[in-house]
Amino acid sequence: MGNFTDQNLYDFLKAGFPAAPRTPCMLLPDGSVITYGMIDEQSARFANLLVALGVRPGDRVAVQVKKSPRALCLYLGSLRAGAVYLPINDAYLANEVEYFLADAEPRVFVCAPQACAMAEKAASKAGVSHVVELDGDGEGSLARKADTQPGNFSKSLSGGDDLGAILYTSGTTGRSKGAMLSHRNLAVNGEALKNHWGFGPGDVLLHMLPIFHVHGLFVATHCVLLSGGRMFFEPRFDTARALRLLPRSTVFMGVPTYYARLLAAPELTPELCSNMRLFVSGSAPLSIETFEKFTTVTGHTVLERYGMTEGGMFCSNPLVGKRRGGTVGFPLEGVSVRVAGDNNQPAGTGQIGEVQVKGDNIFRGYWRLPDKTKEEFTPDGFFKTGDMGKWDADGHLAIVGRSKDIVITGGLNVYPKEVEEAIDKMSGVAESAVIGTPHPDFGEAVTAVIVKTKDELGAALTEGAVIGFIKGNLANFKVPKKVHFATELPRNTMGKVQKNILRQMFE
Ligand code: AMP
Repeated sequence: MGNFTDQNLYDFLKAGFPAAPRTPCMLLPDGSVITYGMIDEQSARFANLLVALGVRPGDRVAVQVKKSPRALCLYLGSLRAGAVYLPINDAYLANEVEYFLADAEPRVFVCAPQACAMAEKAASKAGVSHVVELDGDGEGSLARKADTQPGNFSKSLSGGDDLGAILYTSGTTGRSKGAMLSHRNLAVNGEALKNHWGFGPGDVLLHMLPIFHVHGLFVATHCVLLSGGRMFFEPRFDTARALRLLPRSTVFMGVPTYYARLLAAPELTPELCSNMRLFVSGSAPLSIETFEKFTTVTGHTVLERYGMTEGGMFCSNPLVGKRRGGTVGFPLEGVSVRVAGDNNQPAGTGQIGEVQVKGDNIFRGYWRLPDKTKEEFTPDGFFKTGDMGKWDADGHLAIVGRSKDIVITGGLNVYPKEVEEAIDKMSGVAESAVIGTPHPDFGEAVTAVIVKTKDELGAALTEGAVIGFIKGNLANFKVPKKVHFATELPRNTMGKVQKNILRQMFE
């Protein structure tokens, strides 16, 4: 892949910028445009400001702000200054943020103006030198200070194996861990995705994902910046806005929830999507029902891909050729993916095992947790994802669940996804989640939580009917011992069902 992997990630991205600095990059909701030249200038101002604030290569810059073009430029400026960018979900509350500051000890913390006063105390406890503000409009003390800085930054600091970012994992169990990503990790994955998905200067990405997470920050923006394309840069997902912008876009990236919401809109038609060339889904499993319905309604087959914070993307369905629903496709260029059976030996076709990955995209370890890091790698250097998967006969990978979500009942393993898929086939079921709950005899009992459809079929659905239906479809030990009905499933911002919350609710 040449020597770009030794570069500072910003320099690598910039090599893909169009020659003309006036070329549009971000198209904003108010109709204004941010050009590639403006991005280069603004990120230089931020890089200069960070250096002026005493940020040295390797120092962390923690950022908890609303999504805005300036926030993206701050990420790029942080890369140029050799700092380690640490984005924090803007939904997190003060006590949660305190943990990240104490753990990462950033030199600078950038936050929303209303959070500043409260952040000062936590920041001074964590030894943060500067707390600066950036609001959703890109204004605040950070922007004012940056405006007085020069608009060029001649030589990027750091690159290659130096850290470019730390992203804290969503932490559905235990404490959230900081995944350390190097410039090289991010560059190789960005390049592989741009090529695999055929991104070019003519592309217009509809960007509605948050930018504190691998999906919106790295996958989406790197594909655009590396190919000199454009993006509608929207503050959040909004069905009505998506329907308005799809006719002028070529690519959409979303979590499964976005697809389900789009499908609920009667305005979604093949005509509306006639300019589109690619719909990508990831971060959580896309149900077969959504996958199939999307093709029926729009004529487009959603491309599902799979990856995680600790290494970007690992597998993708093909750009050209058949995309198989319920699978995440094939390993990406440069990524070795294996399904490990006993003793880490490769599992055969159809056998379930842990998904393990290796490649230049895999992270440099968990921040200040060398022992934990070591535990998560096999002796031959594969990262243990904690996801359970299996290969089909044609080499597609299917993810069947997280290893910690497996239900062990009477000593037998039940993979929740298999039971969920069976339940979802019942009329009257809108969606379902299967968890294990303590059981005096079996250790754990297979327990289903079901959201009913809002019609007479849903109204007629009973626990007995569900159990009877599954009995006719799956082995007895997989049949739920208990069925609960809920009005919705708890999900995080990336659309993942929070099974830890369900377990607490139904224990
Ligand atoms: P995150 O680090 O927040 O991106 O979460 C990564 C996790 O999301 C993976 O380890 C998987 O459990 C899950 N995930 C991501 N993409 C998919 C997918 N296409 N299908 C199933 N699970 C997925």
